[in-house]
Amino acid sequence: QGNSRTFLITGGAGFIGSAVVRELIANTQHHVVNVDKLTYAGNLESLSSVEHNERYTFVRADICNAAAMQQLFEHHQPDVVMHLAAESHVDRSIDGPAEFIQTNVVGTSVLLEAARAYWKSLQTSAPEKAAGFRFHHISTDEVYGDLEGTTDLFTEQTPYAPSSPYSASKASSDHLVRAWQRTYGLPTLITNCSNNYGPYHFPEKLIPLMILNALAGKPLPVYGNGQQIRDWLFVEDHARALVQVATQGAIGETYNIGGHNEKTNLEVVHTLCDLLQELVPKETSYRDLITFVQDRPGHDLRYAIDASKIERELGWEPQETFETGLRKTVQWYLANQSWWQRVQDGSYQGERLGANA
Ligand code: NAD
Repeated sequence: QGNSRTFLITGGAGFIGSAVVRELIANTQHHVVNVDKLTYAGNLESLSSVEHNERYTFVRADICNAAAMQQLFEHHQPDVVMHLAAESHVDRSIDGPAEFIQTNVVGTSVLLEAARAYWKSLQTSAPEKAAGFRFHHISTDEVYGDLEGTTDLFTEQTPYAPSSPYSASKASSDHLVRAWQRTYGLPTLITNCSNNYGPYHFPEKLIPLMILNALAGKPLPVYGNGQQIRDWLFVEDHARALVQVATQGAIGETYNIGGHNEKTNLEVVHTLCDLLQELVPKETSYRDLITFVQDRPGHDLRYAIDASKIERELGWEPQETFETGLRKTVQWYLANQSWWQRVQDGSYQGERLGANA
């Protein structure tokens, strides 16, 4: 897409959202409006490479605030919405589901209504712009539930069977998006992706937690027996897939995104320990730090994605293997100590830049 359009990114200060913003600014001519509430998971320091770019704007707002969302659409007149704002951590959803229902379900419905009103008004004021408008909802493979005991892969036809409050809230939001397409004709697209990893990942998640604990000589807590299988994708590969779907995907379609990297959690931790042994050698083995802790309730045993549709129809494929992506990730954490230290000590939340909407 040579010509410049305006992308409204929700949750652009998060892990995946910030990768999408960096991708759009670095590799396209599009304008980006990043709307984010800046919860604990939002970190503007992940956007320091783009914050002074003239094509980038940050607006601090809550997607549950209907008036703010309406104003946002009217003021910025987006061509494409990429909706990533969500509560995203499964363990937090088990401890306190309410915020997940609020942001993931209610927030998505508020955003859909603001988008619909804006798109309808465009149909009279700017029919060509209305015809090109797209709403891309970003979701997870966890909506499909558990593949325990099978060799099956999730396809776009797999029935929904979410297990956790997080995945149930994401499943609900996917259903809302499909309903807005089917009932109101809103031009939507949905993607469901496997577990992401890479730079700027919040240290509560498995891979950064293990890297940082290992460096600090702290125990590496592995749930249950560590045999849960996840399919891992490097976040920058995901960001490229998302931009491709948002710009070239067929309206009304769902695309699964994954990296063909099924690994048990224990394999992931072992690989990390071995990488650290090579990059930051020490006398004892990092593997000695592994401790097995009580399993998460309702823990799904296996997720695996069939990503053949996006590969076939849009020509996307991951650039990183699990080994190359994990090496880049460990090297990034070693080189960016100040980023994660400011997350760990809370100072990343001290400076809140940008306007309030
Ligand atoms: P994240 O938790 O790192 O980021 C979420 C962002 O949304 C944060 O910046 C937060 O401040 C913002 N936010 C939260 N509530 C908001 C609200 N009410 N209004 C405005 N902003 C709000 O999450 P992530 O890992 O980057 O995931 C992004 C999206 O991708 C989510 O929708 C998630 O379900 C989906 N997803 C994540 C993964 C993964 O492995 N991380 C995999 C597949 C899909």
